[in-house]
Amino acid sequence: MTAILFLALTAPQAQAWTHTGWVWDRVEFPLPWYLSDHVTDQLPEDYQVQVLDDSINAWQRDAPCSQLSTVYMGVREGHWKTGASRSDAMNTMYYDDPALQNSDSAIGVTYTQPSSEFAFSLRDPNDPDVTNNYFYAYDSDIVFSQGYDFYTSQEVEDGACSGSNGFAIEAIATHEFGHLWGLGHTCEEIDVQNNECEDAAFYSATMFWQGTPCSNEPNSLDTQDIEAITSLYGPYATFDVGEGVDRFGGVPLEVCFELETKGVEEGSGELAVEWNFGDGTTSNEESPCHTYTEKGQFTVFITVTGTNAECGEYEYAFREPAYVLACEVPAPAEGFDGMFTYEQVEGTTYQMVNQADLSVYGCIDQVQWDVFQGGELVQSVSAWSPKIDFGAEGDFEVVLNLGGPGGVAAEKLEISVSESSGGCSSVPAMAGLLGALAGLGAAARRRRR
Ligand SMILES: [Zn+2]
Repeated sequence: MTAILFLALTAPQAQAWTHTGWVWDRVEFPLPWYLSDHVTDQLPEDYQVQVLDDSINAWQRDAPCSQLSTVYMGVREGHWKTGASRSDAMNTMYYDDPALQNSDSAIGVTYTQPSSEFAFSLRDPNDPDVTNNYFYAYDSDIVFSQGYDFYTSQEVEDGACSGSNGFAIEAIATHEFGHLWGLGHTCEEIDVQNNECEDAAFYSATMFWQGTPCSNEPNSLDTQDIEAITSLYGPYATFDVGEGVDRFGGVPLEVCFELETKGVEEGSGELAVEWNFGDGTTSNEESPCHTYTEKGQFTVFITVTGTNAECGEYEYAFREPAYVLACEVPAPAEGFDGMFTYEQVEGTTYQMVNQADLSVYGCIDQVQWDVFQGGELVQSVSAWSPKIDFGAEGDFEVVLNLGGPGGVAAEKLEISVSESSGGCSSVPAMAGLLGALAGLGAAARRRRR
């Protein structure tokens, strides 16, 4: 599945924010998080939970269209020295890097374990030709390093940090929680070195790769951060086909689509959708049916515009590449008048040369070669262009059976196998189509992707 999402609040210029490729499933909200059992001597005790709670929730406060929510579950009694674990499914925050997991240069590190459960795809914000797959996050821990001094925002403001290599914990925590939510960096070090981090807004983003020592920008998000989180958690629409509707089949193929929206208020009356069926036709119906009359693999595309309370006006698009497959019955490729030919390799071994039309990917998914002698099946091979050893000289019939969503076809050639015919290609005799074979038809109907 592939989705493109761009909100109306997003300027149509190149964007530098990135995602990590994981996202929390909304069923987990409010997202629970814990603190490890350790009191750092760098920060006031009552501030240690508060600053994390403020920082994780800064994302919802400044990007309400994302509709995020969290819940602090308390201290994990006795849990500290073993450090972050990506397999305990408890999102835990650690001060003073107890297990020395972080590299020396890192101020803080977010350790996230994605699951293998596919969530959705989004268009890459920095390359419209690329779509990225997202998987649901399973566990995410944040570890603040030992090697840096952390200050409260008030201390930074009072000048306690000045001249040191310390940081306001709030700014660092808000950045790390951005990673926990699924955001990558706005510009990496290499982008800056290559002068590819061009916009001033990229440098002021919370998700800019580098923190500024003693910077007192507590946890307010920048436009880049808000776009990044909203594109990940804001409203979007997908679609599917109606129950019992096939989107793979022979032409003419009628496909009935159903719009599915998430994060879009019911009955707002403001939702508008445009469908692009991929074959040059469009529709403004909410859940249209469309008949494909030509063979091909078709990318289906919707653009939805609407409004809701949290987001105001929004516009987004969702795209499924190769969603519809309309096929014709298997036939020879252009320029060939037979489905296959053959040539002798050596002795009684012959190379079959499949010439079927593969111009539409997926329209042939069943291939079987049956070899008959005197009306009796002597061997079957299911490869595209196999070498067949007939085992003995004599007259054989070879039948190529091909099946796919468009139907089934078969073609027969008679081959006189002779060990002495050495090296020289035989000229095949054309045989007519044998028509649909019941077994292949059943196989083709079972096929779904
Ligand atoms: Zn980072």
